[in-house]
Amino acid sequence: MSYISARDTIVAFRREPVSPALPSVEQAVRSSQPSEPMYCLRPAVIRDTAARFAQDFRGDTLYAVKCNPEPTVLRAIWDGGVRHFDCASAGEVALVRSMFPDAHIHFMHPVKSRRAIREAYGRFGVRDFVLDSAAEFAKIMDETGYAEDLGLVVRIGLPPGGAMYDLSGKFGAGMEETVALLRAARPVARRLGVSFHVGSQCMDPLAYRRALQMAGEAIRLAGVAIDIIDVGGGFPVSYPDVEPPPLGAFFAEIEGALDALNLPAARLWAEPGRALVAAGASVVVQVQMRRGDALYVNDGIYGSLSDAGAPGFRFPVRRVLDVSEGDADLRAYSFFGPTCDSADHMKGPFMLPPDMAEGDWIEIGQLGAYGVCLGTDFNGFDRAQLLQVRDAPMLETPGHEPIRLAA
Ligand SMILES: *Cc1c(COP(=O)(O)O)cnc(C)c1O
Repeated sequence: MSYISARDTIVAFRREPVSPALPSVEQAVRSSQPSEPMYCLRPAVIRDTAARFAQDFRGDTLYAVKCNPEPTVLRAIWDGGVRHFDCASAGEVALVRSMFPDAHIHFMHPVKSRRAIREAYGRFGVRDFVLDSAAEFAKIMDETGYAEDLGLVVRIGLPPGGAMYDLSGKFGAGMEETVALLRAARPVARRLGVSFHVGSQCMDPLAYRRALQMAGEAIRLAGVAIDIIDVGGGFPVSYPDVEPPPLGAFFAEIEGALDALNLPAARLWAEPGRALVAAGASVVVQVQMRRGDALYVNDGIYGSLSDAGAPGFRFPVRRVLDVSEGDADLRAYSFFGPTCDSADHMKGPFMLPPDMAEGDWIEIGQLGAYGVCLGTDFNGFDRAQLLQVRDAPMLETPGHEPIRLAA
């Protein structure tokens, strides 16, 4: 058995919540009066949302594990019928394999360590690897001993556009390089693919069409047979005052653009993260002080609210155990997190009742995606306590209506 570094084991041995699901966030707050942030998972929502995506998408659904690697979440995704996992590190690969011996694991990070490639292939049965450079191609071939059963997927770079979280600067080969990589990989690949990522929380279905046209151009110029077209992640969800086009509009663009490429033998993949899990968790914070319209709360950008900081995401909020009437005169608040860093600030605006005060609890929704998993223990503020609830999420996203599977 080869050596696993501490870095891999952090993810691999994360605990699953043991307590049975509570009926609601309300109930959880009432019974435990928590003075530490509480991370409330809704596994049934995740399961049913994953089932909806997997059923409606005309191809294989690969869950992007980095978005939320909590074992309870992975289990819910599996229970929703998803059998493919997009992993991006040795730790994620080990975690998914430890939970699901039969899962199809795809290593979709374009820059991997040699050891991660070697172990993924040799020890965890991974066959599909993404690459966006000749150097990575050489690494993959080296570390798999020039294996003849590889799936090689070339990630093509896209210009920025349409997404709230731009991913265009870091990964992806240019057109010429893509063509060269496709030609070089074809003779050694058991299956050859092209992938891209349009950016996260992409609001524009046409972004997928444009990306598929670029992929088609690369394939045409390379003149090689293609087995996989991978449209990546990026599928958006609702946030306050942000209502994306329904999921079906994205799928329609993808199917239309793919049909136009006339590659009937190619299998379609997607790598959704956010779309499957965002609605599946809330964080409950407590107000420790109010200063004007700023609320000092016990979780922040170094905890589960990273995206509420510099990226400027607004999340749905409500006061838990609220006794005030109606929401006619909600007031705009900003939040400060618990650390001493003045960057630990979330400008919102977060709409809450005018009489918010110390001790109040706030449920912050849509944090199943890129929430607790981005947290650190900076300044002695550890991760949120994990529990499960059965109530409905704070926001629904059009076209994500869950398929209610039997529990
Ligand atoms: C992060 C990531 C995803 C998931 O993106 P979402 O916007 O959460 O759907 C998919 N594929 C790759 C390669 C990623 O890096």
